[in-house]
Amino acid sequence: MPRTLITGGAGFLGSHLADALLDRGHEVICIDNLITGSLSNIEHLFGHDRFHYIKHDVTNFTHVPGIVDNILHFASPASPIDYLKLPIQTLKVGSLGTHKALGLAKEKNARFLLASTSEVYGDPLVHPQKEDYWGNVNPIGPRGVYDEAKRFAEAMTMAYHRYHGVETRIVRIFNTYGPRMRVKDGRVVSTFIAQALKNEPLTVFGDGHQTRSFCFVSDEVEGIIRLLESDIDAPVNIGNPSERTVIELAKLVLELTNSKSEIEFKELPIDDPKVRQPDITQAREKLHWEPRVDIREGLQKTITYFQSILS
Ligand code: UDP
Repeated sequence: MPRTLITGGAGFLGSHLADALLDRGHEVICIDNLITGSLSNIEHLFGHDRFHYIKHDVTNFTHVPGIVDNILHFASPASPIDYLKLPIQTLKVGSLGTHKALGLAKEKNARFLLASTSEVYGDPLVHPQKEDYWGNVNPIGPRGVYDEAKRFAEAMTMAYHRYHGVETRIVRIFNTYGPRMRVKDGRVVSTFIAQALKNEPLTVFGDGHQTRSFCFVSDEVEGIIRLLESDIDAPVNIGNPSERTVIELAKLVLELTNSKSEIEFKELPIDDPKVRQPDITQAREKLHWEPRVDIREGLQKTITYFQSILS
C-alpha cells in the first residue's frame, strides 16, 4: 500500500486528495500549519487507521519517519485575498517549503508532485493557455508573491528532477471549486454563493467581462491522481476548458440559488487576469482525462454545501 504525504492536507484540495487516496488504499499523512487550512476538512478522517495528521509548517525542516512513496506539495495560501494578506508566507511556502518537500522526496526516494497553477501564465497573451506558454507575470505586483513563488517552485522541481533524479510531476491547476471552500476565502464562486444565499449584493469586480474556466473539485482530483500515476515530468494543465465571464457566473449563481440579490460592481483588483482557459490536449491525450461535471451540477453541489454550513 503506497504511503503518501500531502502538504496542505487540511486545505480545500489537499483534503479532497486525502479522501480520494484513502479510497484507493493509500496510507495518507497530512501536514498542515492551518493558516488557511482547517481541521474541519479532515475531522471525518481522524480515527481512520490509514490516516495521520501532523501540524507543521513545511517551510521549516520537515521529517517524517518511515517509508514515503509519494509527496504531494499542496501547502500554500491559494486565494488572492489570502496571498495579499500573507505575502511573505506565500513566498516562503512556494520557495522554502518546496525546497524542504523536495529534499524529503530525495531522502525518501519518493515521487514528488507539485501543485502549480494557471497563475504561472499571469495575465496571458496567448489564449487558451498551453503548457509551452511562458506567461506574462508582473513580478512586483501584489499577485506576484503567488505567481513568482509557484514559478520558482516549478524551476526548483525541475532542478531536483534533472540534478538529483527525483521523479517529479507538475500540475497546473485552473480555478477549482466545490464543497470545503471557505465562506470567506474571497474567491469568486464561494463569495457569490455566500452572498446569494444571504441575499446580499453579488460583488462583481471590474465590468465582469473577465473570464475564468471553473473545474469541479472531483474532476480536478481525478486529473491530479492520473498525473501522479503517469510518467510525465513536464507540467500538465488540469482544468475545465468551459470558459465564462464573471458576470455570467453571477447570473448563474442567482438563478440556481433563486436569490433576490442585486449585482454590485466594484473596482477590479490590480493585475487581475482578463482571460483564462486551459488547453487540456496533453491531459486528454496522455492521461485520458477530461472533466465530467457540468457547471450547473457542480454549483448545485457547492450551493448545498454552503447552505449546510451557513445554517
Ligand atoms: N471576482 C469578482 N468578485 C468577487 C471575487 C472575485 O468579480 O467577489 C473576480 C476576480 O476579479 C477575478 C475572478 O472573479 O476576475 C476570479 O477571482 P478569484 O479570486 O476566484 O480567482 P483568480 O482566478 O483571480 O485567482
